[in-house]
Amino acid sequence: MRQNDALQFVHHKYYPRRTRLCPIAPIGTDTPDCESLYSYLLRLSWEHSVRPSCLAQFLYEYLAPEEMRDRKMRAKRNTILGTPSQALISAIEELTGLSHLSRLTLSSYKPFLPSKGQGNQPRKWCPLCLNEQRLLGAVYSKLAWEISTTPACIHHGVKLVSACPFCGGYIGHRSQYYTHSRLGFCRKCRSWLGGDGDAKGEEASIQEMAVARTIGDWIADGDEAHQWSLENLAHSLNVICNVGFGGRKIDLAEALGVGKSTISPWLNAKNSPTLPHLVNIANLANTS
Ligand SMILES: [Zn+2]
Ligand SMILES: [Zn+2]
Repeated sequence: MRQNDALQFVHHKYYPRRTRLCPIAPIGTDTPDCESLYSYLLRLSWEHSVRPSCLAQFLYEYLAPEEMRDRKMRAKRNTILGTPSQALISAIEELTGLSHLSRLTLSSYKPFLPSKGQGNQPRKWCPLCLNEQRLLGAVYSKLAWEISTTPACIHHGVKLVSACPFCGGYIGHRSQYYTHSRLGFCRKCRSWLGGDGDAKGEEASIQEMAVARTIGDWIADGDEAHQWSLENLAHSLNVICNVGFGGRKIDLAEALGVGKSTISPWLNAKNSPTLPHLVNIANLANTS
């Protein structure tokens, strides 16, 4: 696509002149079904009738116009959207006139996510949800599906899947903004990821459903409700230890499936558990 095609963002006839990008509403905010920023940006590029890579170029020029003169830096433009930074979220908010778009990201959980690894995880989805969305004419990708810890769909009680039902291919997080990305379709064979329409899915276990509901509750709370810190997490964990386990750290560690030396820094607010452990702690808080 030619660089000049980015001008479509400026001259598109359907969005208000006060904003440079069409302020389409995010889907499912404040619910467990909230869409991800990845999904929102793909729908935004669709709304402007341009490829995701063109939107990436437009945003890259907006954020770092001086770097566009450098050929090496220009090559990075397609990857700029792969890891949503606060600068990128602020830019999209300025360009659309919308606010609170950080709700579409995992930014609230950043201290608890692995520093690397999330980007290498294959994308996941619920084929039954995709088929329902297609019938309703609004295909999108849920934020819950972006969290590698989410095992199941809370609506259909089935395990999320990560392989295309037709070619068996995976869709990596880092390859999401390539030219031909299209929500609900395999990037490799272009087939519909909901399968042939009568997919039943593999039933999720009770434990998997509990984990999926906990993550859904966190997402529904939104970014403002989730001002997590090491201190308030340590306080909650100490309450669980005292109320549920009579103050015996060894029993709490066993219930969480970790060693006593692992939970001591959590209880003392010295370091944070990762997201899978946080889910276990939340489930423990609900049962103890
Ligand atoms: Zn589903
Ligand atoms: Zn495929």
